Amino acid sequence: MTAVEDDRRRAELVTALGAVRARIAQACTAAGRDPREVTLVAVTKTHPARDVATLAGLGVLDIGENRDQEVRAKIAEIAELGEHFAVRWHLVGRLQTNKARSAVSYATAVHSVDRPKLITALADAAAQRRSAPLEVFLQVSLDGDPDRGGAVPDRVPELADRVAERPELRLRGLMAVPPLGSDPDVEFARLAELAADLRTRHPDADAISAGMSDDLEAAIGHGATHVRVGTALLGRRPPLLS
Ligand SMILES: *Cc1c(COP(=O)(O)O)cnc(C)c1O
Repeated sequence: MTAVEDDRRRAELVTALGAVRARIAQACTAAGRDPREVTLVAVTKTHPARDVATLAGLGVLDIGENRDQEVRAKIAEIAELGEHFAVRWHLVGRLQTNKARSAVSYATAVHSVDRPKLITALADAAAQRRSAPLEVFLQVSLDGDPDRGGAVPDRVPELADRVAERPELRLRGLMAVPPLGSDPDVEFARLAELAADLRTRHPDADAISAGMSDDLEAAIGHGATHVRVGTALLGRRPPLLS
């Protein structure tokens, strides 16, 4: 990339970040919430490591990705750029158990934990490879279709207990992606109910990871503490690599 292209991209990201931050602030005002309760996770999947470095330089240190391999490549590239930002990596996509060892070596949080085997794999790997607990969000499948990831709501209490049993993990709360074509208001209201249920047994698990480029306002209206924003910040992704 030339210096001119670099400057242009940076300007694009500055503008997009301003717009997203304004949307978050407005949604918080509408919901009577403090914007500091909402963490912006910039989902940089398919976009270059340079964008991660630029966002980090602008103060966006929470970075979301959905493939272990892609994060590892970006971490290496950022190091090559000579950038030293304390990026907090959030894995938001489906994670295979055989990637647990790798994931715990860099991730701050995994938002897509949805089955007992993955909980065990992450906890065992974290026991060997890290000192700080790995933050865990349980992904809920709101339409009960397990193909897109997520546990059916009935299984959440059991999964939550399993996470809470392991000192290597810290149960943060719930995550969901609304089913395609659904009404986000309805889906996020349901997620908020499930999150309230969870807090009756696990009062510290008070985070809700919900809301993306198109529906972050609805999510904030229903208590989201982490919004995962890709397209609205970084632009469209190449179609084959969602
Ligand atoms: C890609 C992705 C996002 C970001 O989606 P946008 O619509 O581009 O904001 C959020 N969450 C998950 C789980 C994703 O895979």
